[in-house]
Amino acid sequence: MALTPKVRIEDILNRVELYRPDLDENLLRHAYVFAANRHQGQVRRSGEAYFVHPLTVAWILAQMELDEVAIAAGLLHDILEDTETTEAELEAEFGSQISRLVAALTKISVYESSYTTREETDAENFRRLLLASIDDVRVILIKLADRLHNMRTLNFLRRERQVAIAQETLEIYAPISNRLGIGSIKGELEDLCFRYLHPHAAERLEHEIEERAAAAKRWFSRIQDELTELTHEHDIQGTIEGRVKHHYSVYRKLKAQGIDVSNVFDFLAFRIIVPTIADCYSTLGLIHQQWSPVPGRIKDYIAMPKPNAYQSLHTSVIGPEGHPFEIQIRTEAMHKIAEFGIAAHWSYKEGEAEVEQDSRVTWLRSLLDNSTSSSPREFLDSLKVDLYPDEVYAFTPKGDVFSFPAGAALLDFAYRIHTEVGHTCVGGRVNGRWVPLKTSLKNGDIVEISTSPQQAPHHDWLSLVGTNRARSKIRAHLKREEKVRAIEVGRKLFEREIRRRGVGLKRVLGSDEMKAALVTHGLAKDEDLFAAMGFGRLSAQTIVAQVVPDQGAETPSATHEDRWAAAPKSPKDGGGGLEVTGDPDFLVYVAQCCAPVRGEEIVGFVTRGKGVAVHARSCPNVKNLLYHPEREIPVRWSRGLDGRGGQGSQVDLDMVFREDPAMLTSISQAISAEGSGIVSCHLQTEQAEGRGSASVTVMVDDADHLRRIIDRLLSLKGMHEVERRSGRGQFSRAAASRG
Ligand code: MN
Repeated sequence: MALTPKVRIEDILNRVELYRPDLDENLLRHAYVFAANRHQGQVRRSGEAYFVHPLTVAWILAQMELDEVAIAAGLLHDILEDTETTEAELEAEFGSQISRLVAALTKISVYESSYTTREETDAENFRRLLLASIDDVRVILIKLADRLHNMRTLNFLRRERQVAIAQETLEIYAPISNRLGIGSIKGELEDLCFRYLHPHAAERLEHEIEERAAAAKRWFSRIQDELTELTHEHDIQGTIEGRVKHHYSVYRKLKAQGIDVSNVFDFLAFRIIVPTIADCYSTLGLIHQQWSPVPGRIKDYIAMPKPNAYQSLHTSVIGPEGHPFEIQIRTEAMHKIAEFGIAAHWSYKEGEAEVEQDSRVTWLRSLLDNSTSSSPREFLDSLKVDLYPDEVYAFTPKGDVFSFPAGAALLDFAYRIHTEVGHTCVGGRVNGRWVPLKTSLKNGDIVEISTSPQQAPHHDWLSLVGTNRARSKIRAHLKREEKVRAIEVGRKLFEREIRRRGVGLKRVLGSDEMKAALVTHGLAKDEDLFAAMGFGRLSAQTIVAQVVPDQGAETPSATHEDRWAAAPKSPKDGGGGLEVTGDPDFLVYVAQCCAPVRGEEIVGFVTRGKGVAVHARSCPNVKNLLYHPEREIPVRWSRGLDGRGGQGSQVDLDMVFREDPAMLTSISQAISAEGSGIVSCHLQTEQAEGRGSASVTVMVDDADHLRRIIDRLLSLKGMHEVERRSGRGQFSRAAASRG
């Protein structure tokens, strides 16, 4: 691609007119004037006016034969980032298509500023991120033109900036242009990077090529004459180009072979462009008649295109004086694709529908996966498949990129960072905004996780996460937690049972009978035995009968009374005073989804390792298939020590009322008038609508008590609505532990 020192808008208009005769000249002139105005006074490091940069980018796009929308966006590409112009202003001025292109380019700059390479996979992820997050091919084409001009003018920056930018270009943008088949940009980018990353090697190579320039010239014209004669004789309209190969590719080749530049033939090559595919093959035949081909060097990329759609015939022949040299043969259309890749496809037609535009993006994305293109057939098939719709790429604030399956949540991100970060995650910031655990990740999100030592994994989390990794970590944690709890419960059951037989725990542990019991049940440790009892797999009575022979214990009725009083309370029981009908040894807890209060109709379900969950009969989870009927177990409200119902339950009430500063006082008075107290309260007013709302947690004795409290609140002047909130979900817990 020719370097043009000073581009003028007229050059661009003339160039575009060659391939788009009905071009919208006004759009380009408008963009030119607008951008020139906004960048006025800004100066590049080179000392030139800043506007030279977007103008040159537009020129490069015109050489790629893109449409005027892309070229206008090229003129405007830095305007959101570097001037006061807003996206809305841009849209009002140039329409949504152009403003979206420029906004997407600005977003890529944000990605770039957070990108730092650690490993090859980071670069690969970053490339995929860029391509997955754009929905218009022109974005990446403009980006490549932008980068190309920045690389051409890199010499004005400080040395360390040069190296950093060249490194990024070689890792990100050269591979992208290669995958997109844009040979001209790829070659130039690599050569420019080479100069900054390996200055000594680049200088030496340049020097050697220069030294051989005279010899090369002679040799070149001789071959060219012979080739011209050859094609002429056989009526093939060929154009023959001799060219110096890209320095970086010569360098790589020499380095791979461990040799120095030995002669001109290492860096010179020929290209013959002919009208038809048939001409390609006949020209190849003619060349092989003239000079002997080097075995194993003939490549037919016409029959077997490269994954990036490159097509050509390659051969190496032994030329005059026994020196081998390379020849590429292709048609004009193939040449265009070799130089401009997807840009050439893009400019084939104009004014196409959105659908076709989409299919080009699909094609582009499918190009990126080189593993799918082992045969031309598979290659063609792969063009129809979008390879990345199922993946999402998100960043840490430090710029690490992680990929996730689509639908992954913030919590998955936390688990990707570290298991412990996942376990204690309470939410986080996505692009600077607070969001809950379940928030779905989107491409390009910058995610910052917040943790709290009070947080712990919850069963609900299993349905929030989208990755197997997070799910298995949560499951493992819950299992461990369940086992700890089961051991604790089992130990209590066991202890009470042996105490009833008048024996202390110390005497039993380590005894021969205890060891025998472990062997009988195939267990290794006491803990395993307690766990089995806690999980309900073994009955405490059975084990104790084996370990301590019955010496005539208390009467069953006394035992029964004792059990009433000492019914074990689970950590989540909240003092509701619940028991499994006829079997108070069971570990019972109030289900968080409906949190039934004393007096409500309730139903119990055996859970794995957590005891019995008690739901309100009306809870939707009871009807759901979440629970199996065979796990249902009758439960009832038991008597507390005070003969009533223990210390009561917490209930959340949501209220809506007419905005009134005195409302909070009225609410708290109403609640204390019913002999209850407020545990916590959250008040919100929407002054514009003259409405207020409150979420209040109160203590209630039973369902009757709750009803009375609600009735009294409803009777307050200005109160519109009082509702008991069902479900004290994990988010409210997360919100609480955050504070
Ligand atoms: Mn730029």
